[in-house]
Amino acid sequence: MTSAVGVRVLRSVRELREWRATAGEVGLVPTMGALHEGHVALVERAVRESERAVASIFVNPTQFGPGEDYAAYPRSDERDLALLEAAGCAAAFVPSVEEMYPPGDDTRVVPGDIAARLEGAARPGHFTGVCTVVAKLFGMATPTRAYFGQKDFQQLRVIQTMVRGLALPVRIVPCPIVRAAGGLALSSRNAYLSAEERRGALALSRGLHVAEAEWQRGERGARRLREWVASTLAAAGLAAEYVSVADPVTLREVEGRAERAVVSLACRVGRARLIDNALVGMTLDELAAL
Ligand code: AMP
Repeated sequence: MTSAVGVRVLRSVRELREWRATAGEVGLVPTMGALHEGHVALVERAVRESERAVASIFVNPTQFGPGEDYAAYPRSDERDLALLEAAGCAAAFVPSVEEMYPPGDDTRVVPGDIAARLEGAARPGHFTGVCTVVAKLFGMATPTRAYFGQKDFQQLRVIQTMVRGLALPVRIVPCPIVRAAGGLALSSRNAYLSAEERRGALALSRGLHVAEAEWQRGERGARRLREWVASTLAAAGLAAEYVSVADPVTLREVEGRAERAVVSLACRVGRARLIDNALVGMTLDELAAL
């Protein structure tokens, strides 16, 4: 089936498999839709590096906890398809919940220690939902490469760890965070912000930027780096759910000197729960090569 905008829309696993059989080297970009320039950057890279790119659009119920925003999560399929088309994406996989979780579905992929802290601690079961849906997508699309944003840093590490642990034949490609002017990391959940909340939310990236600048100036104390972020948020009237300075490979909190680190935070702004991070002392390419 082809939509009005031309990108090939695949709604069933059967259609996806038929498309994939003749697609050559495939780059997969898993998304939950409500696409923005961050997603588009992943798709453009997949298009550049693969014979065919396919993006999935699926708001995955198993990665949302009770009381989270599954029902309210923004959905904009027609606009998303137009963006994918413009980015040169060959196909969009847009399955129903029943297609991804058919009757009899009974298996979950449960990640280990890497998923235990930070987002995993704040959102119990979240990464089991993520690993399960991503493993399914890998089984369905058998991509050569799959593209994930640094924006969800822990997710990226959890997926890398799953791929290695289960020896899945796919190359994970980490992609940098795309930000709006002013620094706010693009997120589908930014749609929840009022204009005033959006201004306040600039403190998230500002706090990370301050920590990054301090690190560049030679500050290595993990506690000091956390304090820089927390005080920048506090000055804007925001209190983080967590501010973390963790090892980028293990995601364990750094207690002493942070020679390399992912500085990350989660913070509620209005009804949006936002996350952001900055990587210091290690590059995304080094992370990709793990
Ligand atoms: P989502 O639709 O939020 O599940 O995100 C789909 C993919 O896009 C994930 O790999 C995210 O990390 C990535 N992503 C989301 N926001 C950004 C951003 N601002 N910059 C780069 N990648 C992003």
